[in-house]
Amino acid sequence: MRAIQASTSYSTPIHFGPPSLAASSPRYLNHRHVISAKGEPTEKSVEIMRKFSEQYARRSGTYFCVDKSVTSVVIKGLADHKDTLGAPLCPCRHYDDKAAEAVQGFWNCPCVPMRERKECHCMLFLTSDNDFAGQDQVISLEEIKETTAGM
Ligand code: SF4
Repeated sequence: MRAIQASTSYSTPIHFGPPSLAASSPRYLNHRHVISAKGEPTEKSVEIMRKFSEQYARRSGTYFCVDKSVTSVVIKGLADHKDTLGAPLCPCRHYDDKAAEAVQGFWNCPCVPMRERKECHCMLFLTSDNDFAGQDQVISLEEIKETTAGM
């Protein structure tokens, strides 16, 4: 089974990934995330990070995950950090001091590994050769709400 595990304020650990993804690649199974968002982000920040994500996907030639709930949770995690820290600190990492990390900037989205090597461990921005890349560089606010409802 392939699954992304996210632990957020939205819920206890969540497993993502449609059953159709489950059988074909162990990489998905091994690719678990803990999204460290603390609260429900404001709609304004979700919209800002949604637009940013669409623009950066186009600019970098990358695509959203075939499972849009992955994209949605990461966007909401970035939005939460924008609300609480003033910067879109990557939500898929553990930090001893989030405020200091946000000031330092290395993991503010798009992080340095993404900018330099197109490496996004959150699976927000996927290159076309990634097994889990979809074909979309757009995601609506409604999709974000629907795919994270009840989390
Ligand atoms: Fe996190 Fe970097 Fe991906 Fe942004 S680009 S979501 S900071 S891994």
